[in-house]
Amino acid sequence: ATMLLKGQTALVTGGSSGIGRAIATAMAAAGATVAVNHRAGAERAAKLVDDILSAGGSAFAVEADVSDEATIERMFEEIITRCGRLDILVANAGLQMDASFQAMSLADWRKVIDVNLTGQFLCARAAVRQFLAQEELPHLSRARGKIICMSSVHEVIPWAGHVNYAASKGGVMLMMKSLAQEVARERIRVNGIAPGAIRTPINREAWETPEGLEKLLRLIPYGRIGEPEDVAKAAVWLASDESDYITGTSLFVDGGMTLYPGFEDNG
Ligand code: NAD
Repeated sequence: ATMLLKGQTALVTGGSSGIGRAIATAMAAAGATVAVNHRAGAERAAKLVDDILSAGGSAFAVEADVSDEATIERMFEEIITRCGRLDILVANAGLQMDASFQAMSLADWRKVIDVNLTGQFLCARAAVRQFLAQEELPHLSRARGKIICMSSVHEVIPWAGHVNYAASKGGVMLMMKSLAQEVARERIRVNGIAPGAIRTPINREAWETPEGLEKLLRLIPYGRIGEPEDVAKAAVWLASDESDYITGTSLFVDGGMTLYPGFEDNG
């Protein structure tokens, strides 16, 4: 593998499962030391760290709830104590709490906004502060630091029954772009990834039965569900100098889900 991230330090939030796990694995394979954040998932995180170490990579686990300010500050201190610096943040942690609009509780609304949107704000703010405080190492990275915000196709596709989730991802998109605009002159790059349907625990009901999968595939022109590795490859590239001129953009990794497949045969 090409060592696109050689010598860099990366933090992946929600890194012990699904898309986050694939990104942590791929970034370690690309030469980064990876801090695998988890919340109450110590066992899964330890297993992933073991797998990365066995493959010759470098990683360690850090526990923190991304929606808790003091905990996030402590997690960043822990990473800087260990690694001396941070080059890449992948703000990936997220969840769904689905309910019809009339049945949605304030707690369901707040929880999703707190983790998916405020959690990304807290981690991105800590990362920007660190990028500005640390010495630049131009031989490692042309940018002073890189942030990848995990969004979703639901930053643009409305989603009935998931209003809190869609609102959080729409918010992530404009937070990402506004932050990118604000820090571009510091040469900090901020981008989003907007996955379509990826095979992970978050959407298991949508793909684990043949009927569910068939229904899902009608939404995906490319004809297959996405795998976490599809997103991980995009994340490694977005974090590397290969994408050095790209900032403030949403990269859709969705097999064409945002191409309005409902119009395919509407002549
Ligand atoms: P996942 O459930 O496997 O991963 C989410 C991770 O976030 C879990 O490990 C979970 O423990 C962690 N997490 C939740 N709350 C947290 C908190 N407060 N603090 C720290 N960690 C927390 O599902 P996934 O599909 O891998 O999701 C990863 C990201 O990708 C999410 O932001 C999700 O919205 C986004 N996404 C997923 C899909 C998909 O089809 N799977 C599509 C679009 C976007």
